[in-house]
Amino acid sequence: MHEFALVKELLDTVLGQAEIHGIKKIKNIKVVTGELTATMPEALEFSFETLSHNTSADGANLVIENRSLQLQCRECNHTFNPKKLKYSCPECTSKLTEIISGREFFVEYFEGD
Ligand SMILES: [Zn+2]
Repeated sequence: MHEFALVKELLDTVLGQAEIHGIKKIKNIKVVTGELTATMPEALEFSFETLSHNTSADGANLVIENRSLQLQCRECNHTFNPKKLKYSCPECTSKLTEIISGREFFVEYFEGD
Protein backbone atom coordinates (compact mmCIF):
# COMPACT_ATOMS: atom_id res chain seq x y z
CA MET A 1 0.00 0.00 0.00
CA HIS A 2 2.03 2.98 -1.23
CA GLU A 3 -0.63 5.40 0.02
CA PHE A 4 0.81 5.16 3.52
CA ALA A 5 4.17 6.61 2.44
CA LEU A 6 2.48 9.27 0.30
CA VAL A 7 0.20 10.37 3.13
CA LYS A 8 3.07 10.42 5.62
CA GLU A 9 4.99 12.85 3.42
CA LEU A 10 1.86 14.93 2.81
CA LEU A 11 1.06 15.10 6.50
CA ASP A 12 4.63 16.11 7.40
CA THR A 13 4.34 19.01 4.95
CA VAL A 14 0.92 20.10 6.21
CA LEU A 15 1.86 19.88 9.90
CA GLY A 16 5.05 21.84 9.26
CA GLN A 17 3.13 24.56 7.43
CA ALA A 18 0.40 24.63 10.10
CA GLU A 19 3.02 25.20 12.79
CA ILE A 20 4.60 28.06 10.82
CA HIS A 21 1.19 29.70 10.40
CA GLY A 22 0.09 29.09 13.99
CA ILE A 23 -2.77 26.75 13.05
CA LYS A 24 -3.69 24.55 16.00
CA LYS A 25 -6.55 22.58 14.50
CA ILE A 26 -6.65 21.58 10.83
CA LYS A 27 -10.16 21.17 9.43
CA ASN A 28 -9.85 20.52 5.71
CA ILE A 29 -7.07 19.25 3.50
CA LYS A 30 -7.43 19.23 -0.28
CA VAL A 31 -5.29 16.65 -2.02
CA VAL A 32 -4.76 16.35 -5.77
CA THR A 33 -3.84 12.90 -7.02
CA GLY A 34 -3.11 11.87 -10.61
CA GLU A 35 -4.28 8.82 -12.52
CA LEU A 36 -0.71 7.46 -12.73
CA THR A 37 -0.20 7.90 -8.99
CA ALA A 38 -2.86 5.19 -8.73
CA THR A 39 -4.06 5.89 -5.22
CA MET A 40 -7.20 4.37 -3.78
CA PRO A 41 -9.41 6.84 -1.88
CA GLU A 42 -10.16 4.31 0.88
CA ALA A 43 -6.44 3.66 1.37
CA LEU A 44 -5.73 7.39 1.50
CA GLU A 45 -8.46 7.92 4.09
CA PHE A 46 -7.27 4.99 6.16
CA SER A 47 -3.62 6.10 6.05
CA PHE A 48 -4.64 9.63 6.91
CA GLU A 49 -6.74 8.61 9.89
CA THR A 50 -3.95 6.40 11.23
CA LEU A 51 -1.12 8.87 10.72
CA SER A 52 -2.95 12.03 11.82
CA HIS A 53 -3.96 10.51 15.15
CA ASN A 54 -2.94 12.85 18.01
CA THR A 55 -1.68 15.54 15.63
CA SER A 56 -3.33 18.89 14.82
CA ALA A 57 -4.78 17.22 11.70
CA ASP A 58 -6.65 14.61 13.73
CA GLY A 59 -10.26 14.49 12.49
CA ALA A 60 -9.61 16.77 9.52
CA ASN A 61 -11.70 16.29 6.41
CA LEU A 62 -9.72 14.97 3.46
CA VAL A 63 -10.94 16.28 0.10
CA ILE A 64 -9.53 14.23 -2.75
CA GLU A 65 -9.43 15.39 -6.36
CA ASN A 66 -8.47 12.89 -9.04
CA ARG A 67 -6.79 14.19 -12.18
CA SER A 68 -6.90 12.09 -15.29
CA LEU A 69 -3.83 11.44 -17.38
CA GLN A 70 -3.26 14.12 -20.02
CA LEU A 71 -0.61 14.00 -22.71
CA GLN A 72 0.55 16.69 -25.06
CA CYS A 73 1.91 16.03 -28.52
CA ARG A 74 5.25 17.72 -29.18
CA GLU A 75 4.63 17.77 -32.92
CA CYS A 76 1.19 19.40 -33.12
CA ASN A 77 0.58 20.46 -29.46
CA HIS A 78 -2.68 18.50 -29.33
CA THR A 79 -3.58 17.49 -25.75
CA PHE A 80 -5.45 14.26 -25.11
CA ASN A 81 -6.38 11.62 -22.57
CA PRO A 82 -4.77 8.40 -23.82
CA LYS A 83 -6.79 5.22 -24.00
CA LYS A 84 -5.36 1.84 -23.03
CA LEU A 85 -1.85 3.17 -22.50
CA LYS A 86 -1.37 4.07 -26.14
CA TYR A 87 0.64 7.24 -25.91
CA SER A 88 0.71 8.23 -29.60
CA CYS A 89 -1.10 11.38 -30.72
CA PRO A 90 -4.61 10.73 -32.09
CA GLU A 91 -4.31 13.79 -34.35
CA CYS A 92 -0.99 13.26 -36.11
CA THR A 93 0.01 9.77 -34.78
CA SER A 94 3.32 11.15 -33.47
CA LYS A 95 4.86 9.22 -30.58
CA LEU A 96 6.62 12.33 -29.29
CA THR A 97 4.19 12.99 -26.48
CA GLU A 98 4.77 14.08 -22.92
CA ILE A 99 2.75 13.79 -19.74
CA ILE A 100 1.36 17.15 -18.66
CA SER A 101 -1.04 15.88 -15.99
CA GLY A 102 -1.69 12.61 -14.17
CA ARG A 103 1.49 12.08 -12.12
CA GLU A 104 0.72 14.53 -9.35
CA PHE A 105 0.25 14.02 -5.66
CA PHE A 106 0.20 17.21 -3.65
CA VAL A 107 -1.75 19.32 -1.16
CA GLU A 108 -3.59 22.09 -2.98
CA TYR A 109 -4.59 23.84 0.23
CA PHE A 110 -5.50 23.21 3.84
CA GLU A 111 -7.53 25.21 6.33
CA GLY A 112 -7.91 25.37 10.05
CA ASP A 113 -7.85 27.65 13.09
ZN1 LIG B 1 0.11 15.36 -32.70
